[in-house]
Amino acid sequence: MIIVMKPGAPREEIDRVMEKIEKIGLVAHPIFGARRTVIAAIGDKHGRNLDDLQASPGVERVVPILAPYKMASLEVHEEKSTVKVDGFSFGGTRVGVIAGPCTVENEEMLIETAKFVKSQGAVALRGGAFKPRTNPYSFQGLEEEGLRLLARAREETGLAVVTEVISASQVDLVSKYADVLQVGARNMQNYLLLQAVGQQQKPVLLKRGMSATLDELLFAAEYILMSGNQNVILCERGVRTFEDHTRNTLSIATVPALRERTHLPVIVDPSHATGRASLVPSVSYAAVAAGADGLIVEVHPHPDEALVDGAQSLDFPSFQKMMRGLARVAQAVDRSL
Ligand code: PEP
Ligand code: MN
Repeated sequence: MIIVMKPGAPREEIDRVMEKIEKIGLVAHPIFGARRTVIAAIGDKHGRNLDDLQASPGVERVVPILAPYKMASLEVHEEKSTVKVDGFSFGGTRVGVIAGPCTVENEEMLIETAKFVKSQGAVALRGGAFKPRTNPYSFQGLEEEGLRLLARAREETGLAVVTEVISASQVDLVSKYADVLQVGARNMQNYLLLQAVGQQQKPVLLKRGMSATLDELLFAAEYILMSGNQNVILCERGVRTFEDHTRNTLSIATVPALRERTHLPVIVDPSHATGRASLVPSVSYAAVAAGADGLIVEVHPHPDEALVDGAQSLDFPSFQKMMRGLARVAQAVDRSL
């Protein structure tokens, strides 16, 4: 159920309604919008007396939420929400490109890549320090040293840092260095991790699991929102199918389909979706044309020498060309880069 407050309802009225919600045994989650506040009251309302809420000062209406994921649903928040990463708002009119190597390999390549992607208009730097590798013998990442290098790259370029956290016990460590915590496909249903990233306030980039439905993705987001963090960006990165000409199968329809269900910003990862650098620009254009709020793209100074995911990493000239094309696509759908 949501309690829609009147536009401009003062903080004391919001607090009073929240107290009442808690008193009848439900949990209150306020969502502060630009025009008005709504409060999600979560829990079993069976047998509770809700008349008091409707009569509280500042309350416009009390409505049931039909969607199974309450806080991620459009029903609770009709306007798109925006997630601020440094000065950039994901979910606003601009399309945000996060770019960088799959994995932090060393200082030189990281800084070189950061400077280049920044010069081409990227709003954040990606790079894994902790890597969730399918094969335990594959390179596992530079771990805390990788985080330190990412922080150095931020100092050098001003770019926000997006990096993956793979376990709940490392959330404190990773959030000391990162601006955005990435929860990867392999961890989308790691509920302890979702709760842990929800209990801190850095934005979370939540990637769709490789066999997860959209509802499951939204339930995963719900765990983070319920834990107290409203700054969630969803990421479509393709799912596993019988098809093998691409690494995963990306449904572009996911973008507008999510838009019909959730207020959260949605971005697309064309690199893990396709596994092939030659396909990345076209898929990126399609994603932006379909309404994506951003992209997360792998870029490497020398893809053929990359320790991880070289085949899907763009080299610098390809990234530059793609960014020019993206600006035109964005403009065609009333967005900008
Ligand atoms: C990544 O972005 O580094 C990554 C491992 O992607 P995914 O979790 O989507 O496989
Ligand atoms: Mn990768």
